[in-house]
Amino acid sequence: MAYKILVLKGDGIGPEVVGEALQVLKVVARNAALDLEFKEAPVGGHALDQFGTPLPDDVLKQARASDAILLGAVGGPKWDNPKADKRPEQALLTLRKELGLFANVRPVKAVKELISASPLRPEIVNGVDLVIIRELTGGIYYGKPSERRNHGGLRAAVDTCAYSEEEIIRVLRYGFELARNRRKHLTSVDKANILATSRLWREIAGELAAEYKDVAFDNQLVDSMAMHLIRRPRDFDVIVTENMFGDILTDEASVLAGSMGLLPSASLGDELNGAGCRVGLFEPIHGSAPDIAGRDEANPLAAILSAAMLLEHSLGLRAEAEIIEQAVEAVVREGYRTRDLGAGAGTKVAGCKAMGRLVREKLESAEA
Ligand code: NAD
Repeated sequence: MAYKILVLKGDGIGPEVVGEALQVLKVVARNAALDLEFKEAPVGGHALDQFGTPLPDDVLKQARASDAILLGAVGGPKWDNPKADKRPEQALLTLRKELGLFANVRPVKAVKELISASPLRPEIVNGVDLVIIRELTGGIYYGKPSERRNHGGLRAAVDTCAYSEEEIIRVLRYGFELARNRRKHLTSVDKANILATSRLWREIAGELAAEYKDVAFDNQLVDSMAMHLIRRPRDFDVIVTENMFGDILTDEASVLAGSMGLLPSASLGDELNGAGCRVGLFEPIHGSAPDIAGRDEANPLAAILSAAMLLEHSLGLRAEAEIIEQAVEAVVREGYRTRDLGAGAGTKVAGCKAMGRLVREKLESAEA
């Protein structure tokens, strides 16, 4: 069967890094005789300029009909006016909500050869292997009201954080299932000493933990978690948290791996595709990096590893995903580095295109 993959390159370095990831997928498809059908569509700032909306209806329709979506990044200074009523990031929020992509999965693994790129001491980072699952379609990013107000002539604003039992259960359950297949440890993160939504979250996490007796379970407050994540990251396996806490903790966790240019992510829902897998959206965790866009300096590895996650999670092709991961590791082991990974003695600086080509060469030689 043909798998339909929608490619949304987006803005800034998006087209550069997704361009490399796409070529990697094509090599894997050829090697493994997979029928992958790619369709490209505009999203973000480019779509806003061309069609007056960051996510044209037709693109959302194509997304709904896809087995998986590969996305670069959206946004940039051109569209940064905080007063604008339409912004590139709205495309992401709409895609997540409309496709029901409630679980954002971000693995963070320290790569031995890149430990020196992390600002943390090697003995802290060495051996880190954790996954953060961020709830993606609820909480304060979606709650209403969310608006500016006028309090007797003084400026005010309100945002609303709301969670239903159903929203909390499904993401925590996904986390417990994942933990079962890893080192069997789940940490639930909340702010239960202050927030009502967090107290509900903690209550439900405890109920589910009783169902998953084979998984060691603990609760952490988000403020102490921010500290533990950089003081003792090796102690964690699967971390599950709500939308805004996850947004912040995942960026913090990216320093463990050395660069955002290395970290992929998957956003998954409940809906299954023809392959019996979860339909998902796969993207690097970094943004559009306008400061280096168009200079062939971007690190394409996060986008390439996102393509590997796409094969595993939405197409059920774990072996092919692993082949990509191994090719990336081999290139890094041989000393090739994009600028963000810090070149040093014994390393060779590579641009975005060269890094993509090196990964493809590994895949081609693996096939031979
Ligand atoms: P950013 O992630 O784009 O960049 C932060 C820093 O990391 C920059 O110095 C950048 O050069 C560097 N960097 C990021 N990815 C890199 C890569 N692959 N290789 C090498 N270096 C890399 O974050 P930002 O500067 O805060 O945001 C820039 C724009 O991206 C903004 O418009 C923001 O709204 C948008 N953004 C989009 C997404 C998304 O599409 N998911 C996520 C975050 C930010």
